[in-house]
Amino acid sequence: MSTYVEARDVAAAVAAMADGARPVAGGTDLVVGARHGKAPLPESIVGIHRIPGLDGISVADGVVRIGALTSHAAILSSPELASATAGLLDASAIVGSHATRANGTLGGNVMNASPAMDTGAPLLCHDASVVLTGPGGTRRVGLAELWTGPGKTSASPDELMEAVELPLPPEGAGSAYVRLQYRRQMEIAVVGAAAYVEVSDGAVSAARVAITALTPVICRVPGSEEALVGRRLGSNDSVSGENPAVWTQTTEIGDAIHAAGQAAAAAATPISDVRASAGYRTAMAAVVTRRAVTAALTRATGGSVTVPASDWSER
Ligand SMILES: Cc1cc2nc3c(=O)[nH]c(=O)nc-3n(C[C@H](O)[C@H](O)[C@H](O)COP(=O)(O)OP(=O)(O)OC[C@H]3O[C@@H](n4cnc5c(N)ncnc54)[C@H](O)[C@@H]3O)c2cc1C
Repeated sequence: MSTYVEARDVAAAVAAMADGARPVAGGTDLVVGARHGKAPLPESIVGIHRIPGLDGISVADGVVRIGALTSHAAILSSPELASATAGLLDASAIVGSHATRANGTLGGNVMNASPAMDTGAPLLCHDASVVLTGPGGTRRVGLAELWTGPGKTSASPDELMEAVELPLPPEGAGSAYVRLQYRRQMEIAVVGAAAYVEVSDGAVSAARVAITALTPVICRVPGSEEALVGRRLGSNDSVSGENPAVWTQTTEIGDAIHAAGQAAAAAATPISDVRASAGYRTAMAAVVTRRAVTAALTRATGGSVTVPASDWSER
């Protein structure tokens, strides 16, 4: 039997957590998982879903801030995020079903620390940090330092995640997230990849690539990033972005995209399970990485990529 209290502010939530309570936001991981027998409900639970100020999206002083209680549905309907962090929209668009997206929060997705979570790779590519508040105050932690293993974070049990923050991308930036899935709804990533690129003077000036469900924690792939930076995109005709196949030809950027995919496959250490063998996942790592990079470059150069990019890249 679990005990349940509801916090009305951050201090009350942190106090309950310091007393051993586990926070629940939308409950689509914690409660649904318990009902399905994944793990028993914690003995003590604190509801945080009514704490004012923990949801909402703002852009100020070059920082995009997304409150922990922001639902996937709210992310999807945010004009600010659509232009700044399209890769995050690609992820939120494919989380579960309509009901999951209406109730599930960004904070719950990130703090669950699943290697298959969909928002993780795009957020990592956007250089995001989480804002954690505990009894000792507030601190910011980069995502690479937050996730320490499957289902594990470096946050202490009494630290509440208040928000995700990321730098507002400059002009000429684009991001995308692509996952391999067997169904379009109610599916967990078999494998996934995200890319963030900046393009200036016709060349890739910055690149970040991250992979999902391929390593114990979602991580960046330096080899993929090195393959892309400095590579020229070619003439405007070939970068119009209408046809993702243009970049798979033997152009400088086509070679770089291919190399980025190979580096992602080399970095993968996947498991075999009922959904896919390790060998299949490794082979698909290259495919989803190429698709994510192509979609990010297309967006960065003004081309149109519909959300979610997973559907666009399968055309
Ligand atoms: C049918 C179904 C389909 C799903 N499909 C997908 C999918 O396609 N992709 C995907 O990534 N996920 C999927 N999920 C998982 C889940 O919906 C998401 O991870 C969701 O974003 C979790 O948010 P939540 O608010 O419901 O988390 P909760 O269940 O409330 O919490 C999850 C974990 O995070 C902790 N937590 C929550 N908020 C905070 C906070 N502010 N500070 C500190 N800790 C916190 C909780 O203690 C708990 O450990 C699915 C779930 C279901 C039930």
